[in-house]
Amino acid sequence: MRVFKFGGASVKDGAGVRNLAEIVRQYKGQLFVVVSAMGKTTNAMEAIVEAYMKGDKMGLEQCFNNLCSYHYGIIDELSELNRSCIEGLLHQLNAKLESEPSLNYDFEYDQIVPFGELLSTTIVSEYLNAAGQGNEWLDIRRYIRSDDCYRSANVNWELTKELMSDLLVKDDSRLFVTQGFIASTENNLTTTLGREGSDYTGAIIAHVLDAEYLAIWKDVPGVLNADPRWYPKATKIDELSYWEAIELTYYGAQVIHPKTLKPLQNKQIPLLVKSFVEPHNAGTVIKSSEQSGDLQPIFVLKRKQILISMSPKDFSFIMEESLSDIFHIFSKHRVTLNMMQTSALNFSVCADDSKYVKAAIEELQQQFDLRYNDEMELVTIRHYTQEAIDEVITNKTVVDSQVSRKTARYVLKASEWRF
Ligand code: ASP
Repeated sequence: MRVFKFGGASVKDGAGVRNLAEIVRQYKGQLFVVVSAMGKTTNAMEAIVEAYMKGDKMGLEQCFNNLCSYHYGIIDELSELNRSCIEGLLHQLNAKLESEPSLNYDFEYDQIVPFGELLSTTIVSEYLNAAGQGNEWLDIRRYIRSDDCYRSANVNWELTKELMSDLLVKDDSRLFVTQGFIASTENNLTTTLGREGSDYTGAIIAHVLDAEYLAIWKDVPGVLNADPRWYPKATKIDELSYWEAIELTYYGAQVIHPKTLKPLQNKQIPLLVKSFVEPHNAGTVIKSSEQSGDLQPIFVLKRKQILISMSPKDFSFIMEESLSDIFHIFSKHRVTLNMMQTSALNFSVCADDSKYVKAAIEELQQQFDLRYNDEMELVTIRHYTQEAIDEVITNKTVVDSQVSRKTARYVLKASEWRF
């Protein structure tokens, strides 16, 4: 049994859905196809939530109409399909939007945004059926159960395994089409696993059902040694160990959702990152392997960073207690720290610049003397060489750096990149 995950870009239009069907057709044997919301639908759903929560009736109507016309447009491109296949879902969503919102933003978000996934999987499943590829549409919320931490729910593995064991005996169905990113609580309330979470869904299914492998189909040839939009000389990496891939996602490589690798590694299930544009090419395989230390340099750039330095107001040393206060405040405000440095009187962190970080700064200022620089970038070079470092820092203002045996990291003033 295999699990395929198709992201929004792969099904952004009718041609994308046809391409997905062509890829799926090539594979014999049982297959789980996990599909994200189409194109940029999740962003559009977030705009719907925003208007709904603000009570902005006009904005809401406009966003809802755009959502309908985008999906109807895709259906119209697929002449085999009829618009009626998504009408039920759109009515359900409309009824929700006409009801009074509760005061819990994250809860409402999880009741609305998943419609993106429900719409996309319905269209894909209907199209596959119409194209002669009989399949079963699964509501993954019946199987993947989580706690009620809305917008970043934690999977209840025990319950999920128990419920999914039903699927193991369904060996009569070859092809399942299901949603990524969404789950539900024991009380059947919908939750989401965090933005870009459908890679993780693929890994959960692969783990629980002991898949042969998980393939993530993307618009890039595989895992590259840098983001080509930033570093035009980027090249594909053929093979990576789980360990290395986990390190890269930790440093901010966006190619795979960070939570995806652990469930696969625990059962030694390979992860294939393949191109949906050139599906016959090999892509990248991530599996357990003894990699030598001579890997090529891998570059990860995180933009929009803020560098915060703090020291205790009373000149006490930065000790465990103050560090624990600092971490507590960052975690309370959901701030992810991308780099940390500590010295006797100073502790500095680099984090994504966001409204959350501003709230944390306000709280920290009560206890610490604090300075910050925004408009920073954080570049990580894994398996660095002097040449790779020179390429990155020449003509740049280095504000902070951290170099270990395998990894060199630089906080730089944001500026243009030219290679
Ligand atoms: N549709 C969701 C998002 O855009 C989940 C995913 O695509 O992975 O974040």
